[in-house]
Amino acid sequence: MYLFDMHTHCFPDALAPKALPRLAEISGCVYYGDGTYDDLCAKAAAAGCTGFMILHIATKPSQMHSVNNFAAACQKGNVYCFGSVFPTAENAIEELHRIKTLGLKGVKFHPDYQEFFVNDPAVFPVYEAAAALDLPVTFHAGRDPYSPNIVHCTPKMLAEISERFPTLRIIGAHMGGMEMDADVEKYVVGRPNIYVDTAFATRSLSPARCGELIRRHGVEKVFFATDFPWSTVDAERRLLEQAGLSSDELEQIYYKNVERFFGISLTA
Ligand SMILES: [Zn+2]
Repeated sequence: MYLFDMHTHCFPDALAPKALPRLAEISGCVYYGDGTYDDLCAKAAAAGCTGFMILHIATKPSQMHSVNNFAAACQKGNVYCFGSVFPTAENAIEELHRIKTLGLKGVKFHPDYQEFFVNDPAVFPVYEAAAALDLPVTFHAGRDPYSPNIVHCTPKMLAEISERFPTLRIIGAHMGGMEMDADVEKYVVGRPNIYVDTAFATRSLSPARCGELIRRHGVEKVFFATDFPWSTVDAERRLLEQAGLSSDELEQIYYKNVERFFGISLTA
């Protein structure tokens, strides 16, 4: 069976040795790689991944251009990338068009690191443009160790965006809201235009709770993901294998939903 990891991270070689320890210190999280592209490829292959998505994040407007060029350079075979725009940047929409032209598969927002609330009307034109370009958007959703007290993307905000932008293809990372599963159940579960990824679900969900949320939301709208290097394929896969899902359901989550969502065919 193919296995596609929908949520991974890496950095340019020159930045990785500094960036990863710094992020680990800020977040208090341990990590399982050295943050480079080569390490990500090697670890994913060793863990049995057929392919993966790298989510890149520009943490200031001036980074957008280089981050998206790096993302484009990372794409090969079954390796795909989301680009990034700093949503309040003057040229955010221009960069969105460049992301599309570069052939990147979507856009990742990390509102904690990008310092905005996802339901701020100031960024709505960016969502509108993403919908028009048919660029899916992934939001870091729920709590983040970087900003434990202020949640910039709650499950309720995801629901608001999905109502306001019904054609925007939304992916709520971390099962739609890290450490906020009661709100995920209340606001996100069952919504037709919100997909979720399972990145770092081990941080706050038991296998049984994870399986329950997946079934109630709809197995066809769930992507397997790890958040590597912050978690591993083995750990996140073990959670799903124990979640009481059938092999047919796991097959959808592991790769079939990704193939359908992006219109791609993975190759062995
Ligand atoms: Zn992540």
